[in-house]
Amino acid sequence: MNLPFTSFNDVRPEVASFESYEPGLSIAEIAGRYGLSRVIKMASNENPLGVSPRVREVLEKNIGQAFRYPQSGNPRLVKALAAFYGVDAGRVFVGNGSDEIIDLLFRVRAIPGVHNAVAFRPCFGLYPTQAKMAGVELRQAPLKPDFSFDFPGLLKLVDENTTLVIVTSPDNPSGRAASADELAALAKALPPACLLVVDEAYIEFAGPEHSLLPRLGELPNVALMRTFSKVYGLAGMRIGYAILPPAIADYMWRVRLPFSLNILAEEAALAALEDAGFREDTIALVQRGRRALTDGLRSMGCEVLPSMSNFLMFRTPEGTADVKTLHGELLRRGIIIRALGGYHLPDWLRVSVGTDEENELFLRHVREILGA
Ligand SMILES: *Cc1c(COP(=O)(O)O)cnc(C)c1O
Repeated sequence: MNLPFTSFNDVRPEVASFESYEPGLSIAEIAGRYGLSRVIKMASNENPLGVSPRVREVLEKNIGQAFRYPQSGNPRLVKALAAFYGVDAGRVFVGNGSDEIIDLLFRVRAIPGVHNAVAFRPCFGLYPTQAKMAGVELRQAPLKPDFSFDFPGLLKLVDENTTLVIVTSPDNPSGRAASADELAALAKALPPACLLVVDEAYIEFAGPEHSLLPRLGELPNVALMRTFSKVYGLAGMRIGYAILPPAIADYMWRVRLPFSLNILAEEAALAALEDAGFREDTIALVQRGRRALTDGLRSMGCEVLPSMSNFLMFRTPEGTADVKTLHGELLRRGIIIRALGGYHLPDWLRVSVGTDEENELFLRHVREILGA
């Protein structure tokens, strides 16, 4: 067999075609660039309330455990999640962010060069990158022009070699949520070897009626992915979890790096799960904030997609500053929001819901910049 490598610098072709990840702008970067004392970040859908006091306390208390390895398989967190959601512990999987779970699902469920996966376009950036890294073809069905889900279009791309279909609901960046009925119908329409993965990173902001969680008993081919990064305010701790068909959960545990969820992350997650007050405050703040931001932006003539999440996708009215100008002007004024060029949506912006004060400040600056 001919070895395709000729140098110790050669890498797999999938790797060679990777471009470096473009991280969002950081607060420190913008503060330095424009000499600002205060910078507000409304770009990464993080929790505007920050870390809950209860989690902070638990982290401080457990700092002395950092020299220990975590318990492999994170049995305490698995048990707590199973109890919290009323599912069998054999279905629960936890990982270093949903990112790790997405990556493992491709590698566990798809044979490189044989199987394919299907998602919408645009979709969360990690799906195409991890599919590529796994050597798996990702087929993408365009969302409708209003960014709602085209399920018949999605189904048309599914064939006998499709082993994963991934739907984000509520979707990022549109904020639209599918109904549980639509998702259940999709699951039932898939061929037997195909697993439907619903990425529910933002589900708490839409409401439990949008989740397939209560219907998993009648839908054996459905997996749900969730995270502690959004409603629980722990994006930096990297904790994701999934509720999987039991056999898949078992295989995922066998291949997961044994200590991928660190010991402090596990303690933080356990505390966050019990902190119902913080979760409810977050949901109330987000629902109030997205209403205020939607109304505010619409009153200036912006087009705003109806969001069921903790962010809004919008564009400026014709005849005012274009989205690029608005984005740049906001940065100069110390407000970071997300330009959607990475999603191939250069005419749109995404703003994460902030605190009431941050939302007001954002609206005031947009109004000034647009002259609305
Ligand atoms: C934020 C987000 C996640 C969460 O990812 P983590 O790795 O758990 O931080 C998952 N899916 C989507 C679509 C997201 O926007």
